[in-house]
Amino acid sequence: MEKKKDTRKYDVVIVGAGPSGGQCARLLSQKGHKVLIVDRVRDLSLNNFSSAGAPLSILKEFDLPKTVVSTYWNKLTLVATNFEKKWISPQDKGVVMDFTKLRKFLLDEVRKKNGVVRLGWEYKKHKTLEDGSLEINFYNSIQKRSEKVITEILVDATGSARSITGRKDNQRNYIQGIGLEYIVKTNRVIDSKDFQFFLGYKYISNGYGWIFPMAQNEFKIGVAWYPQYLKEPIQPAEYMKKIIDEYLGLEKDEYKITEKHGGTLFYNSKNKDIYQNGRVVGIGDVVSSVNWLGGEGIRYGMRNASLATNYIDEAIRKKDFDFKTYEKQAKNYLRTKRAIAVKLSILVYGKLGDRNITRGVKAVSLLNFDEILRVLFENDYPKLFIVIVRSFKKIFFRV
Ligand SMILES: Cc1cc2nc3c(=O)[nH]c(=O)nc-3n(C[C@H](O)[C@H](O)[C@H](O)COP(=O)(O)OP(=O)(O)OC[C@H]3O[C@@H](n4cnc5c(N)ncnc54)[C@H](O)[C@@H]3O)c2cc1C
Repeated sequence: MEKKKDTRKYDVVIVGAGPSGGQCARLLSQKGHKVLIVDRVRDLSLNNFSSAGAPLSILKEFDLPKTVVSTYWNKLTLVATNFEKKWISPQDKGVVMDFTKLRKFLLDEVRKKNGVVRLGWEYKKHKTLEDGSLEINFYNSIQKRSEKVITEILVDATGSARSITGRKDNQRNYIQGIGLEYIVKTNRVIDSKDFQFFLGYKYISNGYGWIFPMAQNEFKIGVAWYPQYLKEPIQPAEYMKKIIDEYLGLEKDEYKITEKHGGTLFYNSKNKDIYQNGRVVGIGDVVSSVNWLGGEGIRYGMRNASLATNYIDEAIRKKDFDFKTYEKQAKNYLRTKRAIAVKLSILVYGKLGDRNITRGVKAVSLLNFDEILRVLFENDYPKLFIVIVRSFKKIFFRV
């Protein structure tokens, strides 16, 4: 960033170099706009918080290279108390990506098109200038100095922090989801193509757990929980230990935890996030684009960013900064499905006892591989699944 006297001007400044901000900056720089993308972390490996599991289609949809992939999976396992279902396909069905490599790839794409990338700079505030453009203040805590830039449009891609647009709705409408994850190396060979989820009280009550393979002897293990749904506090580290010791049966000298990370998401369950405030546009987790049922936010954030990019591009070209259509389209996109995902998450993670969760998992085990993938990743509930949910009708509609 330049010194105050020669403050740089941009068409778009994007704050947040997560998947949404990265995708937005990538597309806008490809369209020839003068783009600056800024993130407060000085190195993206320092906030490597996401498990980055996704269906295979993510690579094609966003033209992502194989270099961002850690593993391809062709098995999906749902583990409940005393019941387990494994789906197997001859073809790969999904990926576990390297979250750091994915974000670095997006930033490299921005640089290729002469976009500017600044890491280690934190957004502090902005003000509107006489001509309607925005002046933004950033601060670098290592260099202990502030800088200013001017832009036509400012994009808030700061994830759940919503550092620019804020959490302005009634706080009760923001559901909190917390995830803790370890990267584990083992000297035992594990199935590097098995994507595993844990439900039910044996391994985790009021939430879910996972083992995502990264290589033949390396995996990500995690648990996610929702403080609002809890009747009593939980000990996530205990759940991780249970999965490692009891489920995988690994002895202490057979594995090493090489990294611990985690993150918190705040999801507006009423769809009342701020998509536009003057010339500030919100994208990704800022507008709760994540699929709340399973916490899949990378593909949905990138999709939301791609949609917003069309309107930002048009706004710059036409000098018309009305983003109502973007908001309408983004909201319509998942309106009903979002509501079902929220209801289901409250039901499964907050209301059902262990026996009913096992019953539910037994019921969904009747779905074929593609149907269960559609439920988990597409918010698409096939007929059979609707029948299963109806069997819980009483509890479901009291939520
Ligand atoms: C533990 C965990 C596991 C997950 N696993 C998966 C998974 O397997 N698959 C999946 O699809 N999704 C997963 N998700 C969700 C997914 O990671 C998020 O939905 C996704 O990263 C959202 O992308 P984003 O770009 O909107 O925001 P983020 O990825 O949160 O990026 C926001 C960026 O903004 C920066 N920032 C914030 N404030 C400022 C500021 N003031 N100044 C400058 N920079 C700022 C942050 O440093 C950050 O880099 C997981 C989430 C968690 C917490």
